[in-house]
Formats: sequence, structure tokens, C-alpha cells
Amino acid sequence: MWELALGLGAMSVTAHRQQRGGRRALDSAIAEFPDLPVEAIVKEDVLRQGIGFSPGALARSAAGKPKSYFIFSFDHIPISEMGQGEHQRAPEEITLSGGPWGLRRTVVSVRVNPASPYQVALEGEDRRGPSSEGGGEPILYLDGSPLVPVVFPDSPAYYGRSLASGRPITEVAPCIEWGYLIYLTVFRVCQYFGRDEECRFCDINENFRQQRAAGRPYVGVKMVDEVIEALAIIAELDRDAQAYTITGGAVTTELEGLSEGAFYARYAAAIEARFPRRWISKVVAQALPEADVQRFKDAGVRIYHPNYEIWDAERFALICPGKARHIGRETWIRRIEAAAEILGPANVIPNFVAGVEMARPYGFPTVAEALRSTGEGLAHFMRQGIVPRFTTWCAEPLSDLGRDQGPAPLAYHAGLLRLWRDTHARYRLPAPPGYGPPGAGRAVFSVSAFMDVIDPDTPVAPL
Ligand code: SF4
Repeated sequence: MWELALGLGAMSVTAHRQQRGGRRALDSAIAEFPDLPVEAIVKEDVLRQGIGFSPGALARSAAGKPKSYFIFSFDHIPISEMGQGEHQRAPEEITLSGGPWGLRRTVVSVRVNPASPYQVALEGEDRRGPSSEGGGEPILYLDGSPLVPVVFPDSPAYYGRSLASGRPITEVAPCIEWGYLIYLTVFRVCQYFGRDEECRFCDINENFRQQRAAGRPYVGVKMVDEVIEALAIIAELDRDAQAYTITGGAVTTELEGLSEGAFYARYAAAIEARFPRRWISKVVAQALPEADVQRFKDAGVRIYHPNYEIWDAERFALICPGKARHIGRETWIRRIEAAAEILGPANVIPNFVAGVEMARPYGFPTVAEALRSTGEGLAHFMRQGIVPRFTTWCAEPLSDLGRDQGPAPLAYHAGLLRLWRDTHARYRLPAPPGYGPPGAGRAVFSVSAFMDVIDPDTPVAPL
């Protein structure tokens, strides 16, 4: 039988990454938030704490669709501490279905953490030996007890292909959200460099360095022609993807002689010229002037994500120093609102990083204060028809804030789901477009559970 202690890799993991909350905390959140789908609470807890994998589970998942490291590391330990080569073998996402609560299928992004109370192993696996590939189906264990069956993603038909340059297609155009979204990180680094400029929760530049050091063929800037070549293969072989996102780090001066708006717009223009409206076109960029938003629209972009990361003014300045200095919070908010005039409010979907507003040393000391602040921000945007979404913070150790602390409490994340859902319902808003269907058992958005808490009968905003 699988030994129900922490995974083999856990021994090398620094103490601060070890268990933050197990079954008791999960049961208590489920009892405290009976109006939330259990799926959403479990998903948030798995996202905030990450997952460890047994040798057998890794051997199984490696044969499917491994993590692509599509932009950040989204792991709780650096690659250098991964004792089982998890960076090449852990799955991109998993689904959870069944178990004691009869969970409807729930898609969860994988964040490697060998010391997590959540461990995936094969049923009946004996992991004491050097080779542990036996066993039955994968199961998610919590505190060593079986919780819910797991499914690993199959590799999409196009994943084995390479481009004419020899570059694997997965380095140019991986997909996430169970195949729904093609993720085009066309600029792999950020021009906000160092502690005084980078957003303090972000490891984009450090992740670039660690991936290169680990041998992954990351390039700083993807060529437009290679993106088109990759998408031509996907258009031929794939029917699952419904959307693509063009994104990357901030451009504070110029990149290849172009401003940030012009740089990202050129990819959208090339894609839409070659494959008009084949997928829903999305861009994640800073809050840019109206002329750039119009440029995006003219290029065929339908959804724009000018991510404000954190609502509170004081904490925005401390946690996003580069953004605060180069653009400023008031301008950022004003530009989000101006973008809504150009693209339509439902098509401007700014992200915030859920949980980072509680991180030491700048964070709110209590869950109530953190939620009160974020609630202000949600109401500010939602009353104008703009629906922010959130990504659950992964305390990445290569980021400034993630170096020596773990995630925000589960009560914060469950409270945020309730707050988000109730604010969204109060303003009678449609489900955001470009995320697939809403509702527990249907949602595919994998890095937070906001889509899982929307009433499945809520119509999706038309594009
Ligand atoms: S702007 Fe901030 S969050 Fe975005 S890539 Fe740069 S450092 Fe990271």
C-alpha cells in the first residue's frame, strides 16, 4: 500500500512549504460556506496549497500532457528542488470527480508541491521500492487518506509536433483549460526588472532563468511566423481549442522597436489575417492608452485583460512598484474604464491575484479587511459592467513575496468566491465570454474557481 506520509521529494523541501491546512480545515470551510459548490472550495484549496505526486502517478502523467510552464512557474518549489523531475512529468491539469461529495468534474491547474497535504498516487501503489509504476487509477489523497479520483489529461493530437526550426510546438503554443485555451506567451520576460520594479508575487523573469538552466528551449521573444506556423498545425489537428491568449511581460520602453501595444497587436493582426475568427482572440497587457486598445480592436482582439492585480491603493504601490511608477493606479483604473468604452464592458476582464493582498509584510492582517477591500474593487468595476476575474495566488519561491511564506487562508479564498459570486449576481451580469461554460461540473478555467461558482443557467455575454 502507498505510504501515506508526504512524498519522497518532500524531504528536500524547506519547512515553510509544508502543510498549511488539511482535511479539518477543508471540512470546516465546506461547513462554513454551504452555499458554495464543494467543487469550488476543494479546487481553491488544491490551488493554494499545490499537489505532490507519487512515483507511479508521475510515471502515468508523464505519458499524457505535462506541464508546459506557459508563463510563470506556478509551482511551490523551484525546479532545483524537484527530486522526481516533476517539471517534466507532472500533468498540466487534473480533473477531480466523485469521492465522498460526489464531485462533478472539476478542472484544476497543477502546482507542484511535494510537501502539500494533497498528494496524487495510484490506487494501491507501493511506493517504497525504486520503481513504483504499479497500481490502479490515480487518486487525490488528503492527509494520507483517499479523497477523490483523478484523471490526467491526454496529450492533444498536435503536442508531438515540431516546427520547421525544430522547436517543439508546445514551446510556442501549449494549451490549458483542458484544451480550451491556446496560450501564446510571446514575450517570455518582463521589462520590470529587480525587486524595485517587478510585481512582488511574480516569478516571470526568474522562471525564465530556471527553465533555461533546466534545458527547456525558452526564447525571450517568439517570432510571429512561428506562432502562425504552430497555429496552422493546431487548426488542422485540433477541435478543442476555442480561444487564444497573447501575452507576456510588460514593455516599458520598446521591444523590437515597438511599443507594448504595437508589439502585442502585431501577433493578433497576423493571426486574425490568417485565421479570421477561428478562435476567440484575447490579449493580456498592461492598462494601455485608448489608441492602443483601439489598435487591439482593429487587429481583431475581442477580449482585453489589463490586470490590476490588487485593489487597495497602498498595497498596489507596494506590491506592484513598477506598474505604480510607470502607469499609476488611478491611470490604470481610468484606462480599464476607457477600454470598456471601446471593446464593450463585458470584453474587458481585468485579473487580480487572489490571496496576495494577505501576504506579509504588506498584506491585510485579517481576512475580513482583505475581503472588504477587494469587495470595493469588485463593486467599482461590476457596477459598470466590467467583470474582474481572479487567479489564485501561488506562493512561488522565486518571487519576492513567495520566498518565505505560504498561501492565504482557505477562509479567505472561500469568502472571496462568495463575495465575487454575490457581487456578480447583484449587478445581474452575464458570465464572462472566452472562458467556456460556467458552473460547477462544466467550468474549464483552471487557475481559480470563479467560473465554478456561477449559476450554470447564467448566459455567457455575447461577443
Ligand atoms: S508586469 Fe508584473 S505581473 Fe506582469 S510580468 Fe511584469 S512583473 Fe510579472
